[in-house]
Amino acid sequence: MTMTQAPPASPALNKVLRGNLCSGCGACAALAPKAVKMRMTPPGFLRPDQTAPLPADAEAAIAAACPGLGQTVDAGTRRDDALWGPWIDMQMGHATDPALRHAGASGGALSGLLAHLLDSGAVDAVIETAASDAVPVANDTVLARSRDDIRAAAGSRYAPSAPLAALPDALADHRASGRRFAFVGKPCDVAALRAMQTGDPELRTAIPVLLSFFCAGVPSQDGARALLSALDAPEDRLRSFRYRGNGWPGQATAQLDDGSERSMSYHNSWGGILSKHVQHRCKVCADGTGTAADIAFADAWEADARGYPVFSEAPGQSLIVVRSDTGQRLLDEAVAAGAIAVAPFDATTLAAIQPGQRERRRALAARLAALMLAGRPAPRYRGLRLVAAARQNPLRRNAKNFLGMLRRALRARSGGPTKPPR
Ligand SMILES: Cc1cc2nc3c(=O)[nH]c(=O)nc-3n(C[C@H](O)[C@H](O)[C@H](O)COP(=O)(O)OP(=O)(O)OC[C@H]3O[C@@H](n4cnc5c(N)ncnc54)[C@H](O)[C@@H]3O)c2cc1C
Ligand code: SF4
Ligand code: SF4
Repeated sequence: MTMTQAPPASPALNKVLRGNLCSGCGACAALAPKAVKMRMTPPGFLRPDQTAPLPADAEAAIAAACPGLGQTVDAGTRRDDALWGPWIDMQMGHATDPALRHAGASGGALSGLLAHLLDSGAVDAVIETAASDAVPVANDTVLARSRDDIRAAAGSRYAPSAPLAALPDALADHRASGRRFAFVGKPCDVAALRAMQTGDPELRTAIPVLLSFFCAGVPSQDGARALLSALDAPEDRLRSFRYRGNGWPGQATAQLDDGSERSMSYHNSWGGILSKHVQHRCKVCADGTGTAADIAFADAWEADARGYPVFSEAPGQSLIVVRSDTGQRLLDEAVAAGAIAVAPFDATTLAAIQPGQRERRRALAARLAALMLAGRPAPRYRGLRLVAAARQNPLRRNAKNFLGMLRRALRARSGGPTKPPR
């Protein structure tokens, strides 16, 4: 009998997986497609599976781009907020196409911009994320070439996605046909892609537009199953599943094989169930607001009299955070073409309507310090102003976050849920 030898583990992947720091972006699978594949692993996250030794150049490229290892932000001449990162312009708005506005998670502004990019010929297709045909609560990366494709992929999907794993196919298409793409991904996906584009002019030409959204974290598939169970919707009878959208914020809605529907409010589905299943990397995420994107989109929630976000159904409104000159030009063109309607947004209200982002950013320095004290791997962040954000927190709250993360890290060190690559 012959034994199959495991390939030598990649030091970069080993560190990320040992620290449970993978965000599941798929960059490593794109940089070493013959050696790394993304696979669903318990409790339902996409993780790299290394099946062959990594060439030295792929190892170095993964070490430079992997968001599990860290992220570098350079604000340049842009204004740079300790909570929201570098930005040029903030507006609120929505797609003028009523179907896109309705299908979108917020106001469909992101999808409205994508449709405009296709209509104007700025790009030929969009790499984005849509419901999986095979597993309705899961995601597939799709290539959208038409307004109908964009509408089908609109709406937030609180489930793992690894859109960067599709890059080798997109690059092959670009080489063969000259086609150019816009890319939509989580902030960590876009940070990794931006890092991959540094020093790679072909990748910059192939994908000239990078878009993202504010991201509170990715829940596991077990989280989706807990939601299905609460909805009394058996997974083997699912015809389709939406996490939200079709209204703002819209409902988590399961459609069964007999055409009946079960649904739950955004407040209960995200706040009550899914947010409890978010991966570790997201709890130490310094960039949930898409600092590497040309434009980042978010919910432009209304605030109540006490300044808290209101989740009652309303005509959708997206927050539009322009982060680059390219983003400003694209937004201006989309507005001039009538694809997106915009209105002024008061940036001083953002901390009140995005409490999750605000609190995580302020807590991050304390959480990272706890990981380091416990001897656990932590992402290395540069230029993200974490100390300035921590100063906005009372000492008591920083101490609470420090101790909470320290307890968690010590538990993980004494036999926690980490599995090094083969
Ligand atoms: C996991 C997750 C967490 C989020 N957390 C926040 C938050 O804390 N605060 C906040 O304001 N907004 C958050 N959002 C974003 C918000 O739900 C909207 O996406 C944003 O307001 C833009 O709305 P829109 O109507 O303009 O976008 P739409 O027109 O609906 O377009 C949505 C785009 O996002 C893509 N997409 C959807 N799900 C995924 C996914 N899992 N991975 C990659 N791409 C995806 C779609 O392919 C589509 O291109 C989150 C979204 C996700 C997926
Ligand atoms: S974060 Fe992305 S690049 Fe890093 S190991 Fe995970 S999938 Fe690979
Ligand atoms: S919270 Fe951060 S690490 Fe987690 S999926 Fe979102 S952008 Fe990636």
